[in-house]
Amino acid sequence: MIRILGVRVDEINMEDALAAVEKFIAAFHAGQKRLSQIVTINPEGIWLARGDSQLAQIIEEAALVTPDGNGVLWAAQQQGVTIPERVTGIDLTYRLAELAAQKGWSLYLLGAKEGIAKAAAAKLTEQYPGLIIKGVENGYFRDREQQVVEQIAAAAPDILLAALGMPFQEKWLFEHRDQLGCGVAIGVGGSFDVISGQVRRAPAFLRKLRLEWLWRLLSDPKRWRRYLVIPRFMRAVKKES
Ligand code: UDP
Repeated sequence: MIRILGVRVDEINMEDALAAVEKFIAAFHAGQKRLSQIVTINPEGIWLARGDSQLAQIIEEAALVTPDGNGVLWAAQQQGVTIPERVTGIDLTYRLAELAAQKGWSLYLLGAKEGIAKAAAAKLTEQYPGLIIKGVENGYFRDREQQVVEQIAAAAPDILLAALGMPFQEKWLFEHRDQLGCGVAIGVGGSFDVISGQVRRAPAFLRKLRLEWLWRLLSDPKRWRRYLVIPRFMRAVKKES
């Protein structure tokens, strides 16, 4: 584990993350009641957690905190720590869907606008035959929150994917961690928008060039404000190291 601007990040790659999930699900099957929460942290999240002690505490207590974003890899490198790859919410979703289909683990998709989780579920089951998706629910449920919690608990999925955006997804999962009745819960941000085909992900060559952020900015210029934290994040990391 390392700290970037005081915020916890686990030095893991995708294989480590998958192995950890397998362990968490085994504990769930052995009777563990409280879910294992996974946070996928990017520079924006680190910046948020720096000024939000509740979020920072959730990250401290999480079962796993994955390095999501090249900015996180860069910041680790400033401390002389090489993290080999990003473990993003969307990549984790695809890899877990594949593994779940093989192992018989069940999923529940919570989040995004009406119809998107359902469309994402259809794409995943098409891509990974045999995948069990126990339920889907959109992410705009504030007036029927208890009902949604009970619905998920009744389904008792091995993995709950929560695509509600950071930090809402982290706080919501944490708040309900004893009632959700699932094994693992992961905040996966805007993943369902991409998986459903609603939003196009950056092509692989841009991802390799570490320019996924630029693609996201150009695809949705309204997001520009979010990028203001990046130079601030970099300056603070430089200063820290
Ligand atoms: N969202 C939601 N409920 C809310 C607010 C947002 O389900 O109350 C969804 C939104 O529709 C989108 C995702 O959360 O699918 C947030 O995506 P974004 O890329 O902004 O999140 P990030 O990856 O930055 O956390």
